[in-house]
Amino acid sequence: MYSSMNELFEIAFNSASEGLVVVDSSSEIILVNKRLLELFGYQKEELIGQRIEKLVPMPKRSSHVGYRDQYMDNPHSRPMGKTGMYLEGERKDGVVFPIEVSLNYFQMNDSRYVMGLVTDITKRVEMELELKKAQDNLEKLNEELETLVVKRTRALEESQVLYQSIASNFPDGVINVVDQNMVCIFVDGMGLEKQGLKKSELKGKIYLDRFNDQTKLILENAFKRVVNGESQICFIENADQYYEVHFVSIPSSSRQRKRYLVVERNVTKQKLIEIEQAKALQKEKELGEMKSRFVSMASHEFRTPLSAILSSSSLIEKYDKTEQQENRLKHTSRIKSSVGNLTDILNDFLSFEKLNENKVEVSHEKLNMCELVQYAVEELESHRKNNQRIEFIKGEKPCVIYSDAKILKNVLLNLLSNGLKYSGNEGVVNVDFEISNGTLFLSVADNGIGIPDKDQKHLFERFHRAENVSNIQGTGLGLNIVKKYTELLGGKISFESELDKGTTFYIEIPTNE
Ligand code: ADP
Repeated sequence: MYSSMNELFEIAFNSASEGLVVVDSSSEIILVNKRLLELFGYQKEELIGQRIEKLVPMPKRSSHVGYRDQYMDNPHSRPMGKTGMYLEGERKDGVVFPIEVSLNYFQMNDSRYVMGLVTDITKRVEMELELKKAQDNLEKLNEELETLVVKRTRALEESQVLYQSIASNFPDGVINVVDQNMVCIFVDGMGLEKQGLKKSELKGKIYLDRFNDQTKLILENAFKRVVNGESQICFIENADQYYEVHFVSIPSSSRQRKRYLVVERNVTKQKLIEIEQAKALQKEKELGEMKSRFVSMASHEFRTPLSAILSSSSLIEKYDKTEQQENRLKHTSRIKSSVGNLTDILNDFLSFEKLNENKVEVSHEKLNMCELVQYAVEELESHRKNNQRIEFIKGEKPCVIYSDAKILKNVLLNLLSNGLKYSGNEGVVNVDFEISNGTLFLSVADNGIGIPDKDQKHLFERFHRAENVSNIQGTGLGLNIVKKYTELLGGKISFESELDKGTTFYIEIPTNE
């Protein structure tokens, strides 16, 4: 029984997966199992009777002696070594490897023995080391990541501040960011204040809401095209201001909702300059066209009076007898009338040129209307045909007004000469005026050919001549000039006319000092 117990004990002792070593009180090895021999690479004989330090790495042997003496004095069952640290064993071939040792003691035959249970923890330590390395790496990565995040956040904050200040200082305009439904996500810019708009009132609202229907349509169409992937620029007018609006799609990841940048730039100044330039160009073009039209018309109109002057002067030469005085007078009167026509054309041209170049200066002087009418009537002496006459009843009425005499005389000459020109040989032109309530009411009436209805609404347009005057000389500029002159004096012009009965022109201008 005893021997079979012994055998059993030996089998158990040797088949244990941990190394077992038993030392006596002087720390001499008295028993080792198979596993321990495998772990340390010794033969049994090489260890039995040896000090336990043989299994301890060389540099730690001396300190080990101290520890094990302490343990022998006060033995108890415990794991060996400090918590959290592993021990090391030294193999026969000098290789040091990590071990875990748990100590137990027992008394036998008054002697004290200590049994050490040795586990090779190379794998565990390796794994721990690997784990530690992995942890260290992870920590390092974490640290790097954190630094990166801090850096990025700072950069982001800086760029956000930068973008924000760019946006809020965007001169003369507004920067908007809208989503695919045109809901305003972001809005800023110096143009907001100028338009009386507040960021807080626009954010979250539909971008188009602050525009009128026509502008909405333009912006909406541009936005549709941007959504389809094209960048767009359109021009809008809002509250008397002109804007250039740029639409751009903002690149985003597939998870982010689509956003669009809408930048409104106030281009009113440039636009007004453009409009002015276009107007000036148009005016210049018109003026050029008018001048060339005038020159061709004037040269045509010059031909008739000039040939009349030529033929009359040749005929006068032939009337050399005293009794032919009547014939001579007839031709001198034709010459005078032709010269009058030429003067009219030249005067029209000069006035027209001055008016179009804004070179007419209006003076404000005291003048006598009665005298002015009389001068004009006298000046038109040469324009009268046969029995034509101009009637002016001076009467006792007040005559003094404050206005521009030269301009008024020009107006009168134009209206009176038309009255004569468009009346028959027996025509009578009546000129009259009245001053009341600070206004001069002037009228020039004739009993001439009148103006066809369909021409009446075009009468003051330059170069317009009625259809019933094709055989009467004229430029079609006189009435246009008269209208402009009247308006320069702060007044207005109107007329009444009936075909073959006659025409009356009415002028009203302020007379006050
Ligand atoms: P012009 O007499 O040189 O043709 P105006 O500008 O003075 O040019 O007149 C424009 C047109 O108005 C004339 O061609 C003529 O058809 C019409 N008109 C002007 N005054 C009269 C008038 N007193 N009687 C009839 N037609 C007139």
